[in-house]
Amino acid sequence: MNDLELYFNRVMPVIGRQLEGKRIAFFNLELTHLIADAFARCGVRDMLFIDSAKTVDQGPFVLSYGRQYANRNIGQAIAQQIINHNQLIADWRHEQVEKLEAEQAKSLDLIVAAGNIADYHELARFDVPMVFFLMLSGVPVNSLVLVKHPELPDPSSALDSIRSENVLTSTDIGYRLTWLDASDLAMNFAKALLLRGSPYERHDLEDLMFGQGRNLVLRGQAKWPWWIHYVNPELKLDYIQRVMEQRYFVPQPPINILQDKRVMVIGCGTASLMIGELINFCRSLFLVDPKSFSAFNPVRQLLGTDAVGQAKPKALIKHLTDKIGNKAGEFQTSDLKVSDRDPHSLEQFEATLDSWQPDLVVVATGRTYDDNYAICELLRRRGIKHVVPTAFPGATHYKNIVVDGHEGPCYECIRGNTSLDYADGVDLNAEAREMFYTDVDDPTQPATIFETWPSSHSLLRLSMELLLDPTLRSEWFTSCLAEERTCFVGANLTQKTDGGAYAYGVTCPGQMVVYGMDELIRVDQDSYTCPTCRRSYSVRHKINTEGS
Ligand SMILES: [Zn+2]
Repeated sequence: MNDLELYFNRVMPVIGRQLEGKRIAFFNLELTHLIADAFARCGVRDMLFIDSAKTVDQGPFVLSYGRQYANRNIGQAIAQQIINHNQLIADWRHEQVEKLEAEQAKSLDLIVAAGNIADYHELARFDVPMVFFLMLSGVPVNSLVLVKHPELPDPSSALDSIRSENVLTSTDIGYRLTWLDASDLAMNFAKALLLRGSPYERHDLEDLMFGQGRNLVLRGQAKWPWWIHYVNPELKLDYIQRVMEQRYFVPQPPINILQDKRVMVIGCGTASLMIGELINFCRSLFLVDPKSFSAFNPVRQLLGTDAVGQAKPKALIKHLTDKIGNKAGEFQTSDLKVSDRDPHSLEQFEATLDSWQPDLVVVATGRTYDDNYAICELLRRRGIKHVVPTAFPGATHYKNIVVDGHEGPCYECIRGNTSLDYADGVDLNAEAREMFYTDVDDPTQPATIFETWPSSHSLLRLSMELLLDPTLRSEWFTSCLAEERTCFVGANLTQKTDGGAYAYGVTCPGQMVVYGMDELIRVDQDSYTCPTCRRSYSVRHKINTEGS
């Protein structure tokens, strides 16, 4: 394999070369830049940046890529970012225009746009499929994402039911998680549109949108940030109008107080995406990873091809320092490989914990469960809050287990013990299966950044909630912890299993469900005491083997 083949290796089983040759236009890059970035990482070289002459301000673009882009022309800034990230491709075709003309529109496969409704109508005049999203405030729903396509219901009237004062134009950092969620959903719809009719077609979205005509999605509520409702914008116009008429005030979480929190991340591969976001909120980071960046990594991690060969933690710190500039962060790194099979590494890890005293540890080694158990046990003993993110095969689904220090279920209480662990998974294609199962101890994920961004952003949201003092947390998070439901499972893709149920209990893409100790399953036991934390639970789902 040459360098470029190595770069695309992990995404090949998921999209093949299907997106190469597509031409996509992006409008309002302050809000759509991550989608352009994601498509570039999937082989799309041909992009048209509309309204490219706008200047990058201190908004979402700078929070994504760093202050070095501030005050630059945004079309050139995104082009530069894409070129910097993947220096193996020489023939990027990035065209900058201030306004889309009919002649140019004919060459497009897709328009990706965001922002305000007048812009939607302006772009909808062209006969080009479009994915559009906007963020809302003052109504009960956080954002709206839609697909405009000649075969789908017309969303225009639904959009017109939204009052302009409820369309969020502020780019305040307090809305960053809302924006990331909407952007993630929009990019997955955009990818699905371009994969229609190919071997990589998204059957779930195809059915929801083209089968059922539910091409408008309402996303996020105060009571559940991952609330999602796929709606037919013509048949359910009344419903959408009623939602948009309601007045609703959502208090913003007190994110400023996160600045002084200390976060340790163990395993800086996929978690690098979360680290790149976390630096916008927390300034003290300790990054632990024994590995160097490989040629396979840039396609869905934070750093680009120029970081290949460098030690992960050190290269990340340099990147973060450049990104936030003189707003100094406090950074520490370690190349320790914390492993259950190496008692000395555990001792060193304990010493590091005791000297640095993190407020939160993200356990993202991606390695065997034994290592996670060993690390989590040491954290639990010290009452240090932690999150363990993992992805299911193909990253179709992802899971974050949250442990609130000494409180509630620990990692060992929940991991392997709920109905989730007995559920059927998703069918992967042969190529994806082979990639994932070649090394079961250290599996290689066949996935694109379209899958890893949503998982990273859910990890970010949960980490931020966990970092807050209990009285300052969101109600939904407090309820989950109180009910001992601490295993959050999200889906990029949904599929019915042979038994007829949806894989892992998630019924539509973008949804998040929660598993907890009320789902505890044991074989031949009425009660269960966790060997790590000594908490006892009564068993609700008992599997009897006696007499069978
Ligand atoms: Zn436990």
